[in-house]
Amino acid sequence: MEIETLVVHKGRGVDPSTRAVTPPLYMSTTFERDPDGSYPQGYVYGRTDNPNRRLLEELVAAMENGEDAAAFSSGMAAIMSVFQALRPGDHVIAPRDIYHGAARLLRDLMARWGLGASFVDMAKPGAVESAVQDSTRIVFLETPSNPLLTITDLAAVSQIARERGIYTVCDNTWATPALQRPLELGVDLVVHSSTKYLGGHGDVTGGVVVAARSTGLFERVRQVQQDGGAVPSPFDCWLLLRSIRTLPYRVRAHTKNAAQVAKFLAGHPRVEQAFYPGLTEHPGHDTARRQMEDFGGMLSFRPKGGREAAFAVAARTRLFTRATSLGSYESLIEHRASVEGPESATPQDLLRVSVGLENSEDLVADLAQALDG
Ligand SMILES: *Cc1c(COP(=O)(O)O)cnc(C)c1O
Repeated sequence: MEIETLVVHKGRGVDPSTRAVTPPLYMSTTFERDPDGSYPQGYVYGRTDNPNRRLLEELVAAMENGEDAAAFSSGMAAIMSVFQALRPGDHVIAPRDIYHGAARLLRDLMARWGLGASFVDMAKPGAVESAVQDSTRIVFLETPSNPLLTITDLAAVSQIARERGIYTVCDNTWATPALQRPLELGVDLVVHSSTKYLGGHGDVTGGVVVAARSTGLFERVRQVQQDGGAVPSPFDCWLLLRSIRTLPYRVRAHTKNAAQVAKFLAGHPRVEQAFYPGLTEHPGHDTARRQMEDFGGMLSFRPKGGREAAFAVAARTRLFTRATSLGSYESLIEHRASVEGPESATPQDLLRVSVGLENSEDLVADLAQALDG
């Protein structure tokens, strides 16, 4: 079944008690037992499970071609559940340009918890091989990466890891399963910030972990979810289910717009460099072509003139809101280094753009006037 069909038909069903076609919202925190003490529907208590959460997990698992999924209250809670599925003393290999929140998690919170981490250039699979230690349990991947859109060869790295008995985990937030399905390329777990494209409307914070196999590492992720309790509300799950029905069409439109904006920026005399995997000069272009169905809605660029010029360009845009986050219907522009903080390795003149669902000619015209100043 193709993804457009799958998002319409998975994770729903006519409600047997009312024949409601759209899944009802179940806010109840507790579920009645039968006189013999059993729970005939399997639901006991809101933290451990909820019908809306179950539907969301079924839907996202199906989209990623996984066996099971666990939904969380944020993308970071989802990522942390994967690290907490390990033991103190274990070691993780992560990309040097991993999402800055995940870097902070590894360097600070999880380091104090006893987890070791090495940061490598994931564009070079050989760098992963040399970073492997006896205690390495996970290679964490993110492709395209944030904010430079570095591409990692998922099949190559997951093979290196598998040969050494190491799990691979891929943050698929930027590509979404509409464009890239890491589990089909040999990755063990996928994580999402559903705050972004899965939600798509800038009104839900959430995360999901999807597993190729429901056994092994994922069993511990499930335990962290149910016993740790960083679970999404039933309404958040309901909103996500509603949004995901249109994901493939939204992502296609984001991508078409981003390709046009990237082409415009790459050819503009006041732009030093544009980063978008769909540009043939992008170093990861060939790998992206192989493992992605298209190149996605995110890009970044460096206007000429340094940090001040970058701030000025962002300030002159009218259709791009100056805000962090991504994947919603509106276009956002962000000076990334100042959001990431003093330890950031992001170029000081870099602007990150989440290309929205506006008309692409309007977006290009707005960037043109902002660059011309
Ligand atoms: C936003 C984001 C996260 C963190 O997700 P939250 O929902 O903000 O906790 C993780 N990874 C990537 C790639 C992101 O863009």
